[in-house]
Amino acid sequence: MQRGGRTKEQEPVLLTLSNAVDQTQKIKVEVPPNTTIKQASIDAGVAPKGAFDVFTAGGKAVTRSKAGDHQGEVLYVGPQKVAGGSDRPSSGKGGEEFGSNLWLQDHRWHRQSGLLDQEMVASLDIGLEGHDESMFGLLLELDLLGACRSGCGEVSINREPEEEVNIRMLRGLVDFTTSSWGEVQRLFSERGMDLSLRELDEADIWIGTADYPRPEGHGGSWLIHGAGSALVGSGSFPPIHYACVRETMIDAATLVCGVSALLHRYLRERSAFWQMEVVDRWLTLTARVDDVDPDLALKGLRSKFGRGTATRTSDGRGSLIRYRFPLEWTPPEFLSLLSPALRMTTPTEEEIGPVDVGPFPSKTSEGGYCFDSMGLPEKLSDVNALVLGVGGLGSWAAPLLLSGCDPRTSTIGMLDGDQEVEVHNLNRQVLYGSKDLGCAKATAAASRLRERFGMSEGSVLGIPAPLGAQHVMTCSKESEGDISLQEIVGYSEHDEIISSSLDSMQIALSCLDNQNARTLLNTACLDRGVPMVNGGGEGVRGVVEHFGSDLCMVCRYGPEEAYETERVSCQEEGARPVSSIVTTTAYVGALQAAMALCLLAKQRRHGNEVPEARDWWNGMVSRRQSGRLPWVKGGCGRHG
Ligand SMILES: [Zn+2]
Repeated sequence: MQRGGRTKEQEPVLLTLSNAVDQTQKIKVEVPPNTTIKQASIDAGVAPKGAFDVFTAGGKAVTRSKAGDHQGEVLYVGPQKVAGGSDRPSSGKGGEEFGSNLWLQDHRWHRQSGLLDQEMVASLDIGLEGHDESMFGLLLELDLLGACRSGCGEVSINREPEEEVNIRMLRGLVDFTTSSWGEVQRLFSERGMDLSLRELDEADIWIGTADYPRPEGHGGSWLIHGAGSALVGSGSFPPIHYACVRETMIDAATLVCGVSALLHRYLRERSAFWQMEVVDRWLTLTARVDDVDPDLALKGLRSKFGRGTATRTSDGRGSLIRYRFPLEWTPPEFLSLLSPALRMTTPTEEEIGPVDVGPFPSKTSEGGYCFDSMGLPEKLSDVNALVLGVGGLGSWAAPLLLSGCDPRTSTIGMLDGDQEVEVHNLNRQVLYGSKDLGCAKATAAASRLRERFGMSEGSVLGIPAPLGAQHVMTCSKESEGDISLQEIVGYSEHDEIISSSLDSMQIALSCLDNQNARTLLNTACLDRGVPMVNGGGEGVRGVVEHFGSDLCMVCRYGPEEAYETERVSCQEEGARPVSSIVTTTAYVGALQAAMALCLLAKQRRHGNEVPEARDWWNGMVSRRQSGRLPWVKGGCGRHG
């Protein structure tokens, strides 16, 4: 293709350069088109001292290319990509493609790499068998986990590339108008996973609906799902006494619950989890300054990653100042410097199952198993739901909730104050990909769901703001003081839409790991007589419960806990990070969606049940006691 004329060649190129780690640092620059990206970064002052590379949002290093090839793009300045990559074998198909994405790809898994052996997960070889869309659900979570990476491990499925695939249940989770397994293979290989379509001698995992034929002599892990139940186990299948599997509004949520539990157990059986969770890792740079007191020494130096800490040297004459550098700022090799000496024990026979992990049990009182979707409607129409938080939990709950609704008549509002999708969110937040890095979560989530469900701007609201006390507190409480709460906290451009979303919601889902925000939402729900489904997930623990009119967050957890705001800790420790893994957050988000749909259906007299409150720990689920704390008597001002 012919290049433009000389004048066009000379027109300046607009670039946005961002620090790959601290993405709040963003600079827009105009540079001549033949300047290298490297030079542009140095001139703009965003380049670190020493070696660095500049990456596209997709993780491709473009340091030496010309600015003219990147007109209008957002580029990320980060640590230098190491030639050849990590010590993993890079041979085999897709190896090169893995190498080019190495830097961003490896940093995706920070939040889980202190929980499990990430290299082992990347090198898993899994043979998969079963029902098409169920297998697709498992592939989605395997990819988010960073399992079966190209050049290290692979997942094999006994299908031909031209065989058809029909994605219906999981349409909210993927941009994919599927037609064949060949396309599925391409989709996952673009994401860095190795999916091979070939004949299998023996499958490690079988997954399918209750009415799908099961193979004889299967010896691996399995999941049977449908009709609101999900049953996982290993070895031979139990007899299913009754299976009436028709389409229900919670099919997608049930499948995700089952896949999450199956996968978590599968990893435990392979001793992938560390016995001791490492919640964060960082590098510390120590600088020695002689003849200066620690306080003064601290004032004399600075780091972009915040204040240091200082102590006196042992001879008492100078100071040692320590600065903390986040792991994201280091070459990927540092990830493997720490490895587990102790691993979590594998699940016992009893834990391995068959065990019910879905919204409703399939085990009958007679000891048999039965899949029966009695009372569960196929879809709900005219739903109006509010989802608070579209991160680890909400990015699953929102699409899975919509999967059970008629998108033509339903409305969903998503509220999230998080202004940026970050690299380390991509290990679990299913709605986002590398192209969303740097975008506000609520906005990105809304546009994704509109596309996938063919919904309008007005029926999928993405509000990039946090829920505040000013949106929730009623006038009577405000009038206690002389000035209103709104005057104290100030007005935001989103106040009006937040208030109207609260007033129109029929159900609310709390998907934030922040007690205070949950309690605020709960207050808004109680004032409006709307049920709230509460979810929480951290590391390998999760909880799902709901609050109606008879119980609130304050009665349940006590006022101190209910109004707890985020903990702030000293610089040496950093803000308390939360480790996260997709199996936990997907399970919690999916069960929240199922619970919300069932609460609405019950209100509308479909005659269905509502799933019980649940605790999740390490792939196992148990009933959660729900009730008020005996010593919180009337502490909330609502319940005596
Ligand atoms: Zn209460």
